Amino acid sequence: MSTTKNCKNCGADNDPLLSNCIFCKTPLPEVDINSISNEELILNAGEWVGKVGNDFEQMTENFNAWTGKGMIVISANQIEGLAQKYLSLLQVRSLSNQQLLMAYQDLKKEFDQKRSNIFYKIGGGNKKKGMVFSFLIVFFIIFLIGMLSI
Ligand SMILES: [Zn+2]
Repeated sequence: MSTTKNCKNCGADNDPLLSNCIFCKTPLPEVDINSISNEELILNAGEWVGKVGNDFEQMTENFNAWTGKGMIVISANQIEGLAQKYLSLLQVRSLSNQQLLMAYQDLKKEFDQKRSNIFYKIGGGNKKKGMVFSFLIVFFIIFLIGMLSI
């Protein structure tokens, strides 16, 4: 059993911790956090932690390659916020559950590892941005060295 939130406007399934529909931005109803099962908590935490460090893009059925319409983007910062929410929920529950504690520790480790990534730090939470930025700096330095040695 999973606790997804159904959007009143477009009917899409959304993560229970989201406050707005990722497809149409319509506000979603509050979900009782206690109604989320342990299994689902681990599953969702793992999913969001797995996505940390990058924007997440998903094409919908009516995706149009020319206009870019129908492409859903969840920002890296929003993903990190959700991952963090799930981790803190797991942490609270793991106080009385050994199995959850292990899952929490694994995911927390993965989360921290991702956040200690150098490109992640340079990009302010977005690995791809960090890589592009680093590339530009390196390019600029090479350019400067080239100019100086003429
Ligand atoms: Zn919607």
